[in-house]
Amino acid sequence: MASGLPELSRAMNNQAWLTRSLAAVWHPCTQMRHHAAPGADALPLIPIQRGEGAWLYDFEGNRYLDGISSWWVNLFGHANPRINAAIKAQLETLEHVMLAGFTHQPAVELAERLSALTDGVLGHAFFASDGASATEIALKMSFHYWKNCGKARKNRFLCLQGSYHGETVGALAVTDIALFKDAYAPLTRPSDTVPCPDARQAQAGETAADVARRDARQLEAKLAAENENIAAFILEPLVQGAAGMVMYDPEYLRLARAFCDRYQVHLICDEIAVGCGRTGAFFAHEQAGVKPDLLCLSKGISGGYLPLSIVLCRDEIFQAFYDADATRGFPHSHSYTGNPLACRAALATLDIFVTDDVLASNRDKTKKLHTALSPVAEYPQVRNLRQCGMILAFDVDTADPAFSRRFYRAALENEALVRPLGNTVYLMPPYILNDAEIAHLGKAVQKALTVALENAA
Ligand SMILES: *Cc1c(COP(=O)(O)O)cnc(C)c1O
Repeated sequence: MASGLPELSRAMNNQAWLTRSLAAVWHPCTQMRHHAAPGADALPLIPIQRGEGAWLYDFEGNRYLDGISSWWVNLFGHANPRINAAIKAQLETLEHVMLAGFTHQPAVELAERLSALTDGVLGHAFFASDGASATEIALKMSFHYWKNCGKARKNRFLCLQGSYHGETVGALAVTDIALFKDAYAPLTRPSDTVPCPDARQAQAGETAADVARRDARQLEAKLAAENENIAAFILEPLVQGAAGMVMYDPEYLRLARAFCDRYQVHLICDEIAVGCGRTGAFFAHEQAGVKPDLLCLSKGISGGYLPLSIVLCRDEIFQAFYDADATRGFPHSHSYTGNPLACRAALATLDIFVTDDVLASNRDKTKKLHTALSPVAEYPQVRNLRQCGMILAFDVDTADPAFSRRFYRAALENEALVRPLGNTVYLMPPYILNDAEIAHLGKAVQKALTVALENAA
């Protein structure tokens, strides 16, 4: 009876979907056995029937406020009428065509608009499907650029400690999180790391900018010593997401830009998580007044609708590949490069930024989020309540290894999707929250924190 007919789907309840999913679907980044764990240790699996605005609904009518934008992708809510309409119109016009030898309106317009958002500095767009492949494209482009310039020895990459740039074998080379990396160490080509200027490291009397200047000296030393072998320095501007919402001062980006210029090393900004308005500016690097050589975008760019990633690069990089000789070109493609539906979703997303003046209204929401969450600072176990635009995080001092699962479960019971990274609880909500929804999130987080700490072993 495993029919996919919508009528049958609606008739099924949560339990039936859950059972079928656990049997057939291998869920991402999940120890599947946790779904079968007893009691408070259990990791819930919620079958979602539909979404509307910031809310997700299961098959039994329970609702969950999506406090983390469904893994940081959803900017303007689920089933957003404007994005829906744009995709439907595109669907009736052109669902897909290969992008080698052909081109189409959504890809051209999206490339032009992203170029304009970088003041024309990053004027060439290369399309892909997911964040990890954007990372790999940026690394390949950087290396191949230097090779085309007669500097093939520049074939190593530098990243920050705690960096996350994706989980494919190539992207793991510049990802520095043990959970993702260690098991595959024999398969990956390790990169060098330099310290992340985590603002939490500030000593008494030190500002976050002081930490940035201190750690930038190590970056400079590394580049001075090894620039002949280093193609690029890749970082997540201002916030290292997967590391646990590690925040740092824009001063580090300014210095990184200056040192990369001095030592002839590309600066790659991975704005897959922090781009699209998340930190307060459209691109996080704008807050440092600098531009990268290569910029990776994904996640929010399609509004959370369809897999899409884009690597933007400077004209100088593009020109190094522009030649009669095919081997000097960029031999990278994927079957769905520049998919028109995904590009159309991205254009609709960019339209909303303009028509709704989203960056301005987010400034107001940023303050309200802070107010709604500030009571958590009263908990004796809460440390480092911090915020960067529409990202808010705090650390919980507990030795309970199941804290994150307990919290996640308790949040769901309070109608909120909030899924901590280890002991770091964070919110990264869609930009459409109203005041009542912000208050709801604040209350749900406090209740979940109380329950998770009470139940700790
Ligand atoms: C999510 C993420 C990626 C990887 O994107 P996927 O689409 O999951 O492959 C890369 N870099 C950063 C900073 C991310 O947050």
